[in-house]
Amino acid sequence: MSGHIIIDRELCKECHLCIQACKKGLIIPSHEYNSRGYRPVCFKKEGKECTGCALCAITCPDIAIEVYRE
Ligand code: SF4
Ligand code: SF4
Repeated sequence: MSGHIIIDRELCKECHLCIQACKKGLIIPSHEYNSRGYRPVCFKKEGKECTGCALCAITCPDIAIEVYRE
């Protein structure tokens, strides 16, 4: 199974829990700020593949991640 995620930049509060949750290392910090003064994380599409496991979305306290499975 493969998948991808979409991170809502405006909902993210930069807690980085999803970075720890993704065992594939597909979520990384960013240096760009959103309108609330946080730097939302990014989905790293290149290289390793997302399995659509949804661990990142389950972990996110702000419901900022949507998971799509293909
Ligand atoms: S769905 Fe799973 S593999 Fe994909 S980014 Fe989230 S934690 Fe990583
Ligand atoms: S867990 Fe949610 S709020 Fe925290 S960094 Fe990840 S996307 Fe942002």
